[in-house]
Amino acid sequence: MNYRPGRIFLSAPHMGGHEKNYVLKAIEDNWVTTAGPNLAGLEHDICQHTNARHAVALSSGTAGLHLALRTLGVKAGDDVLCPTLTHVATANPILYVGATPVLIDSEPETWNMCPGALREAITTRQKQGKKIAAIMLVHLFGMPANLKEIMQVAEEFEIPVVEDAAHALGSRYSGHQVGTFGQAGVFSFDGNKIVTTSGGGALITGYEHLANEARTLAAQANDAAENPQYDQVGYNYRLSNISAGIGRGQMELLEMRVKQRRNIFAYYEQQLAPIENLAFQAESKVCFSNRWLTIILLPGEHQPASIKQALEEENIETRLLCKPLHLQPLFQNSPYFGDGLSERLYNRGLCLPSGSSLYEEELEKVSKVLKRLLEPS
Ligand SMILES: *Cc1c(COP(=O)(O)O)cnc(C)c1O
Repeated sequence: MNYRPGRIFLSAPHMGGHEKNYVLKAIEDNWVTTAGPNLAGLEHDICQHTNARHAVALSSGTAGLHLALRTLGVKAGDDVLCPTLTHVATANPILYVGATPVLIDSEPETWNMCPGALREAITTRQKQGKKIAAIMLVHLFGMPANLKEIMQVAEEFEIPVVEDAAHALGSRYSGHQVGTFGQAGVFSFDGNKIVTTSGGGALITGYEHLANEARTLAAQANDAAENPQYDQVGYNYRLSNISAGIGRGQMELLEMRVKQRRNIFAYYEQQLAPIENLAFQAESKVCFSNRWLTIILLPGEHQPASIKQALEEENIETRLLCKPLHLQPLFQNSPYFGDGLSERLYNRGLCLPSGSSLYEEELEKVSKVLKRLLEPS
């Protein structure tokens, strides 16, 4: 990563070396298309790692979320419950299918979807005669959501769950890999995620019919016939066999990448401990986060945007938290349930450089600059 010399990136792609073997083999064998052994190999690796029964490799995580909603039969006019503190990529697929995103605020413990606000949203919307077609939860920055309580609510009201695990490949809840709790789980292999295919994603599910349906919809909804009959709208969401080759090399490294990112978190936690009123995203006993990104909540007197700017002047890339969706123009008409915690997190949060390829000297520099900026002189 030398396209800007000396720059410390937020989360750069990190190759291990075997990726190019899979890619070269694909080129040598002329599997330069959206079919081929790397795709089956990557899907196998994902199932192996997560213990999911089925995996479908796709062109992006967003495509995976869209297909999850399609395969669960979410229709125009339905409600889909979704956290407000997330990337817009979580909610866009809800709009693709013409459903209404109902935005749920964060809970203090995980910063993810608050089970109490979720329950309130369901009962309120049901009283208004709305059909709640799915719950879309997110494991933000790799931290598992409160799956126990959310799954309880989902079961009580018989609502299917989609896990947006774009950040969270390798994270566990009560010992089980996230993405395997809901009817479907979705990973992203975008360049800045914990492992990458340069761009891509995958849907995992325990249900064979959902996997088959997703695979069909990802390939223009072709039935297998020689002269296909079309009875529904399809997409071209297939992943390239070349990209899948990168993914196979990356999957070999996943466990190490989780360790490396967790070490980075631990390093920041230790270095920044002396700064008063600075907080981290805490991990409860049942949660194991891949620590995809380390987030700090700044002491109240500091603005994330100005700290970000000051770090930028040192050639250090950081990122603000996603602005809660209920504050975005695109979602101004979406119902919202909660007490504003997401906004308070947004107003204090900063994502620190967390890539597994960072050198110790780079982490030292980030911590040193942060201490200088945040400690009273
Ligand atoms: C990255 C991301 C996605 C979508 O993944 P892409 O592969 O970029 O389409 C979905 N949800 C969240 C929270 C993300 O950060």
